[in-house]
Amino acid sequence: MTQIVTRFAPSPTGYLHVGGARTALFNWLFARGRGGKFLLRIEDTDRARSTPEATAAILKGLTWLGLDWDGEPVSQFERKDRHAEVARQMLDQGTAYKCFSTTDEIAAWREADPRQPFLSPWRDATDLPDAPYAIRLKAPRDGETVIDDQVQGAVRVANDQLDDMVLLRSDGTPTYMLAVVVDDHDMGVTHVIRGDDHLTNTARQIQIIDAMGWPRPTYAHIPLIHGEDGKKLSKRHGAVGLHEFAVLGYPPAAMRNYLARLGWSHGDDELFDDAQAREWFGLEGIGRAPARLDFKKLEHVSGHHIGRMRDDQVLAALQDYLSETGAPALTDTQRSRILAAMGALKEKAKTLPGLLDQARFAMIERPITVEEKAARNLDTVSRGMLKSLTAAVQNASWTRDDLEEAAQQVATENGVGLGKIAAPLRAALAGTSATPSVFDMMTALGRDETLARLQDQTDLAG
Ligand code: GLU
Repeated sequence: MTQIVTRFAPSPTGYLHVGGARTALFNWLFARGRGGKFLLRIEDTDRARSTPEATAAILKGLTWLGLDWDGEPVSQFERKDRHAEVARQMLDQGTAYKCFSTTDEIAAWREADPRQPFLSPWRDATDLPDAPYAIRLKAPRDGETVIDDQVQGAVRVANDQLDDMVLLRSDGTPTYMLAVVVDDHDMGVTHVIRGDDHLTNTARQIQIIDAMGWPRPTYAHIPLIHGEDGKKLSKRHGAVGLHEFAVLGYPPAAMRNYLARLGWSHGDDELFDDAQAREWFGLEGIGRAPARLDFKKLEHVSGHHIGRMRDDQVLAALQDYLSETGAPALTDTQRSRILAAMGALKEKAKTLPGLLDQARFAMIERPITVEEKAARNLDTVSRGMLKSLTAAVQNASWTRDDLEEAAQQVATENGVGLGKIAAPLRAALAGTSATPSVFDMMTALGRDETLARLQDQTDLAG
């Protein structure tokens, strides 16, 4: 059996669009699940847009998403001589011809009847002038070109609706259609999985492939991603670049799971890991309706993955997130406190910034600032209770159970519920009311830091 080869062929636009990321993911899953290769080709023939930075942004996006590719990325622009060589070969073989029509002549034709594809008068000419020419495909005039698409089914295009497309322009530059076909062939691509906005190109590409007598790859054109309102995804919908999702704090593992489900399904499975995705992914599971981006669902998937990641993986993702957003790196103390509270933190968090919010208590330094709302819980009575609590836990073993028992005891002695002591305790330890449980904070901070934060507040009681 031949090895499966897929490819992702982005045009550098300055960032990796979430739709492009999904296309890359599908190609990656398909290849990786079948012992195949996943190649990368940068379609950089538009020289104005194809800056090194624009290409780097794409590679960075793929790397962030955790998609690795085989070999070096191929530059389409650098292969232009090879594209021209194939056009000349087609000329020699008689599957292409020299067209001397000028742009004015072609424009005049179009003006006369815009629905009629241009029919070059040079297709069968034998008496050729010595003038600049383009190389055009001698495309079939009759019958139809049928795309046997794994998602869209049989897509038929009447050949008389397609003109003899230009392969090589009169300035010697290859056209996009030719470049894609030659590159896919030379790279040994067996499966072309791409957005269905390319479907109209496919009939043309097939004509070139057939003219060369090359094997056609298997095609799967996937419906584009729509926004929550069902319209084609655009800037209007907010995040469209993968980096924007990174900044919103969804971990890459969650993005892979979520993006895989955008347009592809495996029964009712919503939550899965990479190994399952690789095993399950197939073209038959790709739907024909456009997928809608759904941030609620994404949050849910994200929370699931954060909860399942190992503590050190979450910590690493947090550090990447902080560096991605330009925030200062964590200190050793912050890291060890966050790790100590990680069990509690990751259970609740839906996103990395959400987790960081809850981890704030572990990142702040004494003397801590108490937010106004939390400060309301620190009156004379509650400060008195904190003093009793300090005495009670001073020599307690520093386990969650013992700390809770000590707090419960102080609450009972004061004739109040545990909540009445937890609120000022929370304020003293974190300065805010949105935190993990007070006992998780105490264990994460350790005895010395906890007692010091309590003392900072009880000292104020006078
Ligand atoms: N460069 C094209 C794009 O960015 C993709 C071409 C292809 O997959 O064949 O949309």
